[in-house]
Amino acid sequence: MSFGEVLFSELAIRQVAVMDAKYDPRKIEPKWQAYWESTGLFKVKEDSGKEKYYLLVLFPYPSGKIHIGHVRNYTIGDVVARYKRMRGFNVLHPMGWDAFGMPAENAAIANHTHPAKWTYANIDAMRSQLKTLGFSYDWDREIATCRPEYYRWEQWLFLKMYAEKMAYRKESFVNWCESCQTVLANEQVEAGLCWRCGQQVRQKKLWQWFFRTTDYADDLLAHSDQLPGWPEKVTTMQKNWIGKSFGAEIRFTVEDRDIVIPVFTTRHDTVCGATFMCLAPEHPLTVELCKATPQEKQVMEFVDRMSLQDRSDKAVEGYEKEGVFLGVHCINPLNGARMPIYTANFALMEYGTGAVMAVPAHDQRDFDFAKKYGLDIIVVVKPPDEDLDSEKLSEAYVGEGIMVNSGQFDGLDNKTAMEEIAGFLEKKNRGQKEISFRMRDWGISRQRYWGAPIPIVYCDTCGVVPVPEEDLPVVLPEDVELQEGGKSPLPQLDSFVKVDCPRCDSPNARRETDTMDTFVESSWYFDRYCSPDFDRGMFDSKAVDYWMPVDQYIGGVEHAILHLLYSRYYTRVLHDQGLVNFKEPFTRLLTQGMVCQETVSCPKHGYLLPEEVKIVDANRYCTHCDEPAAVGRVEKMSKSKKNVIDPNTLLEKYGADTTRFFCLFAAPPERDLEWSEQGVEGGFRFLNRVWRLTTGWMDRVKDAAPFDGSPAALDGAVRDLYKKTHQTIMKVTRDIEDRYHFNTAISAVMELFNTMSAIEETESNPQQIPVMRFAIEALALLMSPIVPHFTEELWEALGNTSSILLAPWPFYLEEALEKDDLLIVIQVNGKLRSKFSVATDADEETIKQIALEDERIKKFIDGRVIKKVIYVKRKLVNIVV
Ligand SMILES: [Zn+2]
Ligand SMILES: [Zn+2]
Ligand SMILES: [Zn+2]
Repeated sequence: MSFGEVLFSELAIRQVAVMDAKYDPRKIEPKWQAYWESTGLFKVKEDSGKEKYYLLVLFPYPSGKIHIGHVRNYTIGDVVARYKRMRGFNVLHPMGWDAFGMPAENAAIANHTHPAKWTYANIDAMRSQLKTLGFSYDWDREIATCRPEYYRWEQWLFLKMYAEKMAYRKESFVNWCESCQTVLANEQVEAGLCWRCGQQVRQKKLWQWFFRTTDYADDLLAHSDQLPGWPEKVTTMQKNWIGKSFGAEIRFTVEDRDIVIPVFTTRHDTVCGATFMCLAPEHPLTVELCKATPQEKQVMEFVDRMSLQDRSDKAVEGYEKEGVFLGVHCINPLNGARMPIYTANFALMEYGTGAVMAVPAHDQRDFDFAKKYGLDIIVVVKPPDEDLDSEKLSEAYVGEGIMVNSGQFDGLDNKTAMEEIAGFLEKKNRGQKEISFRMRDWGISRQRYWGAPIPIVYCDTCGVVPVPEEDLPVVLPEDVELQEGGKSPLPQLDSFVKVDCPRCDSPNARRETDTMDTFVESSWYFDRYCSPDFDRGMFDSKAVDYWMPVDQYIGGVEHAILHLLYSRYYTRVLHDQGLVNFKEPFTRLLTQGMVCQETVSCPKHGYLLPEEVKIVDANRYCTHCDEPAAVGRVEKMSKSKKNVIDPNTLLEKYGADTTRFFCLFAAPPERDLEWSEQGVEGGFRFLNRVWRLTTGWMDRVKDAAPFDGSPAALDGAVRDLYKKTHQTIMKVTRDIEDRYHFNTAISAVMELFNTMSAIEETESNPQQIPVMRFAIEALALLMSPIVPHFTEELWEALGNTSSILLAPWPFYLEEALEKDDLLIVIQVNGKLRSKFSVATDADEETIKQIALEDERIKKFIDGRVIKKVIYVKRKLVNIVV
């Protein structure tokens, strides 16, 4: 019988309320999963009488298999959800699928199937895997973003955004990945490489749809400092990405032409030192200006070469500066000087306006370029106590100072000059102060098939026509043949493309065949979870008002400037449409660490999977060739390095509770977790020990009421256990509540377990059974978010008839937290010689040590050989000399 096939009726569960002698996760885990499902325990609805708590973990891409990183994240989320629930919150804990995107398409092409079929099969497989882990999801709220019921609403919002010019279309140079056959947003290009496939990205000119994210740049930036529940590294990354700078826009006129080139600079104090201009190779004027000049051919060659180069700022920084003269000049608006215009590799379309006013005396990059091409260098700012000679300058002077060579501005300090020059330019209508952002508008067109269609029609007569709202959704057709290489089949699919114009009924209109970036879907899925079946809008605002914002979000730091920034942007759009009453979707954010493991490789067979390695006397050997294998660095688990653990193997061998236990115990959530089989093994052993201890006591405690009085009414080991239990409740509560430090919470429970193990069953203390009952109950409750199946079983054996999840979280008594002292008597050869007090939890070694070092004792044992040190527990130490 396989793990998932064991099903029990509720009746059966209630009849067999006796714990088996042996801990068998294969038996109890399916039993409780079936119970949770049949009783609908995890279903929630809005309840105005209860405080809500929305716990969300970033939804997975349905790749087909849960990996260990998922297991860790979802376990962290599940512990918080279960804990909050026991604290009395109405907890929303949903799960769904980020189901559009290229991997589905690529896998479908490789396996000759359809992306929809592949995706839905994967969703089914992953859902049942998640269920075997015992996560407390409300599965009634499950969503998949590839379903028309979902994406129709984002098409609907697109139309609103289009109507208000928040979505617009323009032809521009975009990041093009040849291997993925699509455009990438700036956020999706990492050091010039495609974030998905790692291939070189090139610049291509295309008509694209954009969201005007820059409208919200200032607001996003300002609120980045008002997210106290977010890790600072994430808000810092967002702030840097938005990149606000204060400067001026200055307009340069092209000589003898009616063309003006605006430039953004933060150093407008140095305009008189500008001796040439550089345009980005992608700048539209680059090609236009050189036309019919002797320079044309050379410029075109340069532009072509640059389109194949990595144009990211990081890469460009490393290149030697190079450029080509365009054959034309522009005029310096401040001093009228003629400035040659170049196109240069260090000018980026990404920054400012794509045109750079080059001031070689005060910018090192411009200086290098000027030296290389023999261009003028003019000092306009000098240090207060020194003169600078333009001829002899060996590097750019970038410091503050006094203005020179700047006509009417000479003698001013350069800060003042900035203000004055900006004022002067504004008066002459040649420029003004300006704020610039690094962030650009979000390009959302993707030339791939498996995505949400953009609801737009092109008509020869009417131009760009939005699809009427009543015609939504524009359903992605499924009757397509996918093509090798990933080129979208939509442009060739007449049944999709050919459409009557919604405005003039012309039969020759064509549909937009680009689909939306899948990051659009993930920018609002958390709102959709609040009312997943709502069919009169994106979501039911009453439900969203109740549940949103998300109280705790869990997702990786790799999404800092992607999903996490897009979601903040999209929420602002919804806010300004009057659809939601908040601007920030996530109150608290936890970015979890990675799961890592050492890599092992064979000189002949490369990286080895854990099962391809055999260990003999702590040495590793390749199972294919028996040669010694080398142990490499501890790295993030990845298929390519083969240092992966399949969660299924763990589930088969140890069960869900041990897997969860290990993930939480091995490291605090925000840190990387190093995988260790011994660690998993250790967790399994601990659960077995708890099982044995509790089954051992069960007959006696089953019908007892838990002790709930003052510790003053107890004494001896029972009193210690009672106090230890309260101390543990406090420690675990604080570790989970304040810091999510589940690892230290588990350590505290282990300590409590040790105290419980030390109780001698024969002791004739009448309070022993009630206190033990209290301790076992507390241990079950404290562990229940972590190992839910195990503790349900224990809870049931204690005679409870409803789920442990419905029990309130235990509370602690202040008076039970104070530590007791033990009075220990010291004897030498059986005669009382001294005494001392020590904490009740001090161990035997410590107590013996204190006795031997006692000043009064020293003179009795002075110089004599100690034959024996006898410790009578909690009472005395007898030193025999
Ligand atoms: Zn790619
Ligand atoms: Zn028309
Ligand atoms: Zn080998």
